[in-house]
Amino acid sequence: MAVIGFIGLGHMGGPMSANLVKAGHEVRGFDLSSEALAKAEQHGVNAVGSVPEAVSGVDAVITMLPGGQQLLQCYDEALPAADPGTLFIDSSTVDVADARRAHELAGIAGFGSLDAPVSGGTAGAEAGTLTFMVGGAEEDFARAEPLLEPMARKVIHCGGPGNGQVAKMCNNLILGASMIAVSEAFVLGERLGLDHQAFYDVASISTGQCWSLTTNCPVPGLVETSRANHDYQPGFAAALMLKDLKLAVSAAEQSGTNTEVGRLAAELYQRFNDEGGGGYDFGAIIKLVREHSKPLQETEEAKEA
Ligand code: NAD
Repeated sequence: MAVIGFIGLGHMGGPMSANLVKAGHEVRGFDLSSEALAKAEQHGVNAVGSVPEAVSGVDAVITMLPGGQQLLQCYDEALPAADPGTLFIDSSTVDVADARRAHELAGIAGFGSLDAPVSGGTAGAEAGTLTFMVGGAEEDFARAEPLLEPMARKVIHCGGPGNGQVAKMCNNLILGASMIAVSEAFVLGERLGLDHQAFYDVASISTGQCWSLTTNCPVPGLVETSRANHDYQPGFAAALMLKDLKLAVSAAEQSGTNTEVGRLAAELYQRFNDEGGGGYDFGAIIKLVREHSKPLQETEEAKEA
């Protein structure tokens, strides 16, 4: 069994570290929030008071932080304090350029490192069924695989440094765009008199089928697993979807890639966040579609005129 330093014990890192403890690993956890630390302690994590304490004398360090800035700051503190041979695994979702910079810093300090962002949300973190998309050297991937296994349904090596983040970003471009499309389809259908259940029964077995429809349907009452049934409490918050879409847009700009649907999806999630929706599940974007549609009476009058 390994000794693992775990930094960032929030909505995702909390349950992920708990699953490592359950699998028999010793976990030394650190978080700036005393609340998060106390919660992790209840699940058997040894809470420590600083980044250097979390990373010295461990086999591997896993970070699960809000973004690239926090990651790079954390590595500044962690790399000088770690023992030779420590493997650095970052599971936060960050910009590809930040991920590659983190690899570079770890390499300069003599450590192996991986970017290993996840998909599956808080439910997947709790159940230990996350998908890990991993970028980095083959030998580091081989060392990391058994450590990630208790948190994972699937661990996929996506190539060299940063490629895990590339895969994550591209996946979430599909997810954000498909949730908007599913929401627009439901609202268009309902305004033209189509019953939600009837549309679901058709689309869920037709070519419109996708995760945003059949697992996290934006209309409540149709799919058991949907956050719409819980007043859109996340789940995967719209603010995080916006963050991921912005990463995709920025990467598209840097690489000169024409991703117009991705850009529009980012604009719509930005508008939803600006209007106060950021704390709700990303499926709540259906409210934006409804709120920005004309009143039905108005469209009838326009037809008559
Ligand atoms: P969160 O805000 O709940 O957790 C982040 C934790 O990091 C917080 O507890 C915060 O106190 C801590 N932190 C921040 N800076 C720190 C520092 N310098 N040192 C130590 N601790 C620090 O966020 P989350 O939902 O757990 O998400 C974490 C990462 O996972 C993000 O990059 C997010 O994009 C990604 N992610 C989230 C989900 C999801 O559904 N929540 C799904 C996939 C990926």
